[in-house]
Amino acid sequence: KRRPLVLANWKMNMTPSQVLPYLDQVIPEVEKDTGADVAIAAQDLYLAQMVKATTNTRLAIAAENAHWTDEGAYTGETSPKALAEIGVSYVLIGHFERRKLFNETDERVNLKTKAALKNGLKVIVDLDEDMSTYDTVNPNNVVLAQLRAALAGISAEELDQVAIAYEPTWAIGSGEAASATAAQKAAVLIRQSLKNLYSAGVAEKIRILYGGSVTTKNAAAFLSQNDIDGVLVGKAALDPKQFLELIDIAQ
Ligand code: 13P
Repeated sequence: KRRPLVLANWKMNMTPSQVLPYLDQVIPEVEKDTGADVAIAAQDLYLAQMVKATTNTRLAIAAENAHWTDEGAYTGETSPKALAEIGVSYVLIGHFERRKLFNETDERVNLKTKAALKNGLKVIVDLDEDMSTYDTVNPNNVVLAQLRAALAGISAEELDQVAIAYEPTWAIGSGEAASATAAQKAAVLIRQSLKNLYSAGVAEKIRILYGGSVTTKNAAAFLSQNDIDGVLVGKAALDPKQFLELIDIAQ
């Protein structure tokens, strides 16, 4: 099985004074648990400080978004080149909240993914699905359309640096996670689609994460599924104790 990835998404949470105490609490434990990759996505404002605090540790730092060009007149945006230069490892692209609240289109998700990869960042491409399309049997469902659009023009070699996150929109922040079997079905469809787009070898290697109301209670069920290789965790990961527990579960 693929190496699990436990990724916290702090979203626009945590105050400046909470950042270092959180890291101080989790780093020693993350150093001991070597069976999973661990990362935290945070607001841009905190990233440089977080990278510094985690240098030479197993805890990687992620951005929650990045622009599709390296520099230019894009007021308020963040350059993927700058993120790479300060030592950020991952970037989350196409999160549901970006798509819904900030009009992120499939085309932009694709451009952003390419720009991030070009700068050496690892990318978590986020796919979402609402109740109206919650149909893990239909190969034309919205998730697979998002997948194809996000990866257009991306080579098999580049895909090495990509993970996919499957997040049903109704499960995000709702306290109602998908069932582990439904998430597994979606992951199988995504992997099958990757096999068609690339090859069986590529599809076997890529990590697929589940996100949406993951908790310390339901994480084991997701992580024990054959095609689910990690969790993308919002609310539960705001508490360092729960985040550590989730990492433990992923071992
Ligand atoms: P919650 O874990 O709070 O449902 O958030 C999920 C999410 O959007 C992670 O990216």
